Order: sequence, then C-alpha cells, then structure tokens
Amino acid sequence: MNKTKVVATIGPSSQSKEVIKGLIEAGMDVARINLKHADYDFCMDVVNKINELNEELGTHVALMFDLKGPEIRVGNFFNGEAEFVAGTKIRIYTDDTLGDETKLSINYPKLIEDVNYDSLIKVDDGHVVFQVLDKGQDYLLCEVVTGGKLTNHKGVNIPGVRLDIPFLSDQDKDDILLANTLNADFLALSYINTHEDILEVNDLLINMGNDHIGIIAKIENERALEDLEEIIKVSDGIMVARGDLGVEVEVERVPGIQKAIISKCHVAGKVSIVATEMLSSMEDSATPTRAEVSDVANAVLDGTDAVMLSDETTIGFFPVETLKTMEKIIHSAEQDVNYLEFMDKAIRTETKDTTGLISYNVAQTANYLKCKAIFAPTISGYTARKISRFRPSCPIIAASPNLLTVKSLQLHYGVLPVQINELKTFDRIVEASKKMVKDIIETEKGDKIVVTGGYPFKDVKHTNFLKIEEL
Ligand code: PEP
Repeated sequence: MNKTKVVATIGPSSQSKEVIKGLIEAGMDVARINLKHADYDFCMDVVNKINELNEELGTHVALMFDLKGPEIRVGNFFNGEAEFVAGTKIRIYTDDTLGDETKLSINYPKLIEDVNYDSLIKVDDGHVVFQVLDKGQDYLLCEVVTGGKLTNHKGVNIPGVRLDIPFLSDQDKDDILLANTLNADFLALSYINTHEDILEVNDLLINMGNDHIGIIAKIENERALEDLEEIIKVSDGIMVARGDLGVEVEVERVPGIQKAIISKCHVAGKVSIVATEMLSSMEDSATPTRAEVSDVANAVLDGTDAVMLSDETTIGFFPVETLKTMEKIIHSAEQDVNYLEFMDKAIRTETKDTTGLISYNVAQTANYLKCKAIFAPTISGYTARKISRFRPSCPIIAASPNLLTVKSLQLHYGVLPVQINELKTFDRIVEASKKMVKDIIETEKGDKIVVTGGYPFKDVKHTNFLKIEEL
C-alpha cells in the first residue's frame, strides 16, 4: 500500500463506469470534478457512478468539487479562432467586439482602468501574451509578445493586477450548494487571494449546515502567496496549483514555492497536494518522460500528502495506465523517504499536548518495533491526522463508524481509512484491531501492531492510550 495519495480528475476520457472502476482499482483515492468544465449532468453522472462503485468494490473513494472561481476570459472570434503574430500590434476591447488577428475582447469592464502601462495580459495559460502599450478611450493598444492561436473563451491572467470582481460568482454559490447536496468530501477553491475568501465560503457552508466538507485552498497567484500563513490556518489543505501559478508568477519560482508549501503544511498538520502536468506526456503516450518521473518522485520525497492528475485523466488516451504509472513511481520513491527527518520536524513543531505526545510515541514505537500497522479507531479522524503528521513508516489504519470521517481521511499521508461498527469496549478494540490488520495487510504470526485512540469514546476528546499487540 502506498502512503502518498492520488487525486484523479474525471473528464471525457474517464467518465465511463469501466474507466472509473479501472482508476479505483489502480489506486485513485479522491476523484476530482473540475467545475470549470463540468455541468450539472456530468456531476450527477460521475457522483452516481462513484457511489455505485464504492458500494460494489467496498471502497471509500472521496469526491472533490473544484470551483470555477473568479476568472476573466476572451470573447468570441470570427470563425472561432485567430492567429496572433509576435511583434504586431492589436487592440483589446471590453464589449462584445468579435476578435480576429488584429483585435479581441475580454469580459472585464474595468480592464482599461485597472491595467498598468507595460502590464502583461496572458491568455490560455500564457500560451499567447500581450503587453499594454497605450490606453485608448474604449480599448487597450497592445503588442503581441508571444504569438499563437487563440480560440473562443480562453482564460486570461494579468499578473500583478488586482481585479475588482467578487470572489464568489452566482455560479460558484450554486456549485457549493451542489457539492453540499451531493455530499462532496472536499471543496477546492480556485484563485483565492486571501484567507478572507475562505472564511466567506466557510460562512456559506455553515449556513447550509455543512460541517464536514474539507476546504482545499488552491495557491495560484502572488496575493495568495503573501497571505499563505493565514490561508493555511483556515484551510484543511493546500493545493499547489502549478498551472495557473506558473502563469501568475515567474515559472522558475514554482519548484521553490512547491517545496515551501509542502513543508509549511506538514508543520501545520494540513494536507498538501501537488497538482498539474505531473505526467503530461502520458496524455498521448503510454510511457512518461524521465523528467516527469523525477517530478512525481521529488514531490513524494519532499513529503507531500497527495499528487494530482488533471488532463492526463480527463482528456488523455491512457487514464488508467497513467494512474498505474503514478502509483509505481510513488511506490519506488517511498522506499527512499527519510521518515526520521519528517518525524523530527514534526516533534520540533508539535504543540505537545496529550494527543500530540501520544501520537509521536505511537509513530516512534511503530518504527522502533518495525510494527506492521498502527490501528487507530476514531470518531472524528483527529488521532489519525495527528499520527499522519509524524510520518510513521507503517500504514495507519483509521477505523471509524462514521463514513464522512472515513472519506475525509482519504487525502492524508499514510492513512488507510476503513469503516467499522462502533467498538464499545476496550477488549473489542483490541480484538478488532488484530482481525482487521490481518484482513487488510499481509502479516505473519508474531508481527507487532500498535493500537491507539481515546477511551472511553464518549467521554474522552483526546488520544490517551498506546498498546502494543502481537499477532
Ligand atoms: C492549476 O491551475 O494548476 C489547477 C489545478 O487548476 P485548474 O485545473 O482548475 O486550472
């Protein structure tokens, strides 16, 4: 069993039940729906298939809804596309002007006012770039810095310019409602600027009576980086959204930012996800490049909780093969992880309360005794999350009667969440732990496991026991 989790985005290439089943069997922990591209029918279809497959396969694949977020786009072109040539001058309007190779429109009314002279306007993930030369009455005069073809409605990034648009559009609010109705486990927030954006979503969720959905903040611009510490505090996890991030900040800064985010999340006990272009070449090739293998492996060696596939599984020709390849790379990289270094870092930054100290000792003991597993019965998932932070070298089997808790643990490093009936007595916990470990992983007589949790369940809100059992 791999410890690093895999998020796979579902799209046209993977929408069939057969492919989703293949992804689950290959090791998908979380299925992501990107609401930039998905409509209501698509969401319903995918959610139903995942629920059915979880039933059929006895799995607990979690669901992530990724909001569209505030964004601006180019308008329509004559014939649906136009080719822009580097060095030529073009005009950008904010009305419905139809575009061609000399002009285009962008759907942001305050564009002319808000951009600066010299601002770069990047379209389609920076594939085509314009630089502002001058401002006319109702247009911007720009030079084409990077030429290329554009089609209708491509996304626009203007690094360094604060756009005056609300964080949540009406569509985002409807999508949050849909995520709540369909019982999504994680909500990823696109283009957040500050932690206040997350608090706004939190308020909406509280008003809907939703206290379980995990909030994943996508870091994809400079403003979010400036407020990173506060954003980590109010989120359940952070996604290094390298696609947009690499357009909004200099692309060469992205690896350093990725490492810093993984490390800060580890210290804070929050989940980190590394996303985008991890195995891009596998969209149309059955094998990855050496550089991609290194990219995935390095994210694992840096201690990320999860890695993510996007276009590889949404529009690629080899969705299941790509996921299998990712799992193989993870498996190999995990043999080289320096678990002691992660544990050291975790204890240095631990709050050292009862749960923190027991969790540390659980992880230490499991490593010293070369235990086969840590068994952690849990109601809320708190104990399992705490132990995960210490990165023990054996799996943490988190057993909960609460299905929402089970799914909420799908992104946590090293945690294997399972659903069980409530364990009412201490003897039942010990008995169940031995049985479940033997059922789930390969063991031999005499192997040791660590059993931990808070007991009695109803009265104790922290982890208070550590027991070593021999199988
Ligand atoms: C990204 O920009 O890297 C990302 C994950 O977001 P999206 O796939 O929504 O563009």
